[in-house]
Order: sequence, then structure tokens, then C-alpha cells
Amino acid sequence: MPNCLICRTPIEPFISFGKMPIANGFLNPEEFPHEHFFDLQVGFCSQCKMVQLTELVEQEKMFHGNYAFFSSTSSRMAEHFRRLADTVKREYLGPDPFVVEIGSNDGIMLQNFAQAGIRHLGIEPSANVAEVARQKGIRTISEFFNEDLARRIVAEYGQADAFMGANVVCHIPYLHSVVAGVKILLKPKGLMIFEDPYLGDIVAKTSYDQVYDEHAFYFSVMSVSYLVAQHGLEIIDVQPQTVHGGSMRYFIGHKGAHPIKPMVAAQLAKEEAMGLQRPETYVRLRENIERSRTDLMKLLRDIKQQGKRVACYAATSKSTTVTNYCGITPDLVEFISDTTPIKQGKYSPGAHIPVKPYEEFKKRYPDYALLFGWNHGEEIMAKEQAFKAAGGKWIVYVPKVQVLE
Ligand SMILES: [Zn+2]
Repeated sequence: MPNCLICRTPIEPFISFGKMPIANGFLNPEEFPHEHFFDLQVGFCSQCKMVQLTELVEQEKMFHGNYAFFSSTSSRMAEHFRRLADTVKREYLGPDPFVVEIGSNDGIMLQNFAQAGIRHLGIEPSANVAEVARQKGIRTISEFFNEDLARRIVAEYGQADAFMGANVVCHIPYLHSVVAGVKILLKPKGLMIFEDPYLGDIVAKTSYDQVYDEHAFYFSVMSVSYLVAQHGLEIIDVQPQTVHGGSMRYFIGHKGAHPIKPMVAAQLAKEEAMGLQRPETYVRLRENIERSRTDLMKLLRDIKQQGKRVACYAATSKSTTVTNYCGITPDLVEFISDTTPIKQGKYSPGAHIPVKPYEEFKKRYPDYALLFGWNHGEEIMAKEQAFKAAGGKWIVYVPKVQVLE
């Protein structure tokens, strides 16, 4: 049995998604024979309550020089980070402020600090993505964050007012080293502010496509509390977010440095009421996921039998779990439409569905569009009113499989 990455307790997976490729590993046909697969399984630690992958993919296989995800492709996310940056600038910066962000991507958040002339440092391991940020004038280094890097940053820049991370902390298996680094890096009143997909939303919405190689952890307030307490830190506030299909933003300070907002206890009580501390909750989650798969495949087969066309919308990392776990193959769906040039002309990981430019979708609308980017659903459907007007229908699978007429 594997051990919990946080507290070393042996844990048993409660679900297996089977053999899974790298979620963001869009590839060319000549690469098919060498595609990397691993067992995608999730376990719950009854000791520290952390939900986590039980087999990990090496970081170098996922985040490399050709990493295909650029944050700034979504205007809604740009606005989300602008608002967060405004809050930090207004409420959390001391004299001579310094802000650090891990997984700073193409600078979607830090550009707000750079433009205001605030000292900042981005840490982005994917070299090609980091280069895009640097070209925008955002100071960025390509390394993995840990205690050692924290010490070097403090030596060069001093301690930080804020250490931020959006959709990145849950990616890091060696979390103790990160949190220990945060302890070193933060000023006495400094804050770690991070957000990641929230376990409570995954359980409530059966949004199992949050589970893929990059997401080593599925955080809750209870599991994050346990983790940061090991390093003399504590959660002082939490704020639920609607982005990415339901995320939680955590504010963490040195123990005793800040008053703790009532929202922390309130959210913990909510998690207990949901049963996030109980193994049975995850057995039920598995059953719900299996039902979702059955329903989606039945729907796609029915549509195929009617001779209708289905295309998929947005070649997301999440979609790799859905296509491979459910068994969605190119005989059921024609292609995946995506606006990211780096993915176009390639094939989806594992399922090998062709990825075509968005213009293909517009040129000849399918009868149905399977919405892989459901977490940007509102933004997408508002943009695609012509598809609907032409008789197109959306297929969504979160929180349940349904056709939106
Ligand atoms: Zn544990």
C-alpha cells in the first residue's frame, strides 16, 4: 500500500481510473507508440484527511519546455487574478513590498504587480511559459520551489509580504518542503495566499475530471490545516471561488500573527457535515463517478446511432481523464475544437481524438458539442450563441450528464 504524502499513513485507493496518459500530453501520431501511461488512482488518508493520487508522474514528464497551457488565454481568469492582485495590493502589503508567486505561468497575476512597480518574482518551472512572462517584463525564474530556493530568494530580495499560488500548490507532491520554504520566506506578517480546486466541490458535483496527473492533492480546509500546522503556520481565512468549477482560496500566516476569521470554523463545520473526514463519503463518490461514466457513454452512443455529429469543445487537461476513463474514442466524437495553436493538429492523450482549430467548429457546426471546458461554461456559451441558434446542443457531464437544449 502506498503511504500518505503528508503523514506517511498507509492509504488504500478508493477509485481507479485505469491506465492514464499525461493529461496535457497532446501528441503527434509518430509519438503514439512511446506514450507514457500510469495508474490514475485516488486515496483518502483517514489520519490527516488528505485526498491524493497514490501513484505520481515525474514532474519532468508533465512540466517541460513544451508545456501547452498558457493562463492568459482566458479573459475570465485574467479578470479573476486582477481582482485578487487588487485585494493583495490594498490589504496585505507592508513597506517596500515584495510578492512571490509560484507557478506564475505567463504572468497573468504578477503583471498586475509589475505594472504597479511592485517588487515581484515569478517562479515558473516550464521554460517556454516563463519566457513569455519575461517578455512582458515580469521577473521570472525557472525552478521548482522548496526550502533551498526560499533561502536563496530571502538572501537576494529579503522576505516576502505575499507568497501566492493559483492552481499550482496541489500539483506539488513534496509539499512539506514547499510549506517549510513558505515559513522561511514570509515576513512576520506575511501571508501565503493560494487557491486550488476544492474537494468539497468535487464531492458535491462529481467533478472527477479534476483528477489527473498534475493534481497530486485535492485539498479541503481540514487537510490544509493539518499540513500547515506541521510548519508553525495556520489558516486565517478561506474564500470559496467559482473558477475552475469550484476552488478554495486559503490565507495562511505564521501561527498567532493574525486574528482568524470566522469563515475558517464555518467552512470546517461544513466539511464535517459533508462527511469529508469519513471514508464512506469517498465510496459514494466512486459510485457517483461510475454512474456518470455510464450515463455519458449511453448518451454518446445514442447520438451516434441517430447519425448525429458530436465534436468536443476545448482540449483541456481535464478532458483526458474523461475520454480515457469513459472510453470516448474518435468513432464517437469527430474532433476537439481548441483555440490554442500549440495543441492544434495534434491528438488528445490516450484517446487520440484529433484536435482542430476553432475555425473547424465554426465552419460546420456539429449537432452536439461535448463541453470539456465546463468550468468556463458561462463564458463559452455566451460566446457561442450562434452555435445554439443554428440548432447546436451542449452536452455537459458536471454536476450530471445532460443535454442543454
Ligand atoms: Zn495522511
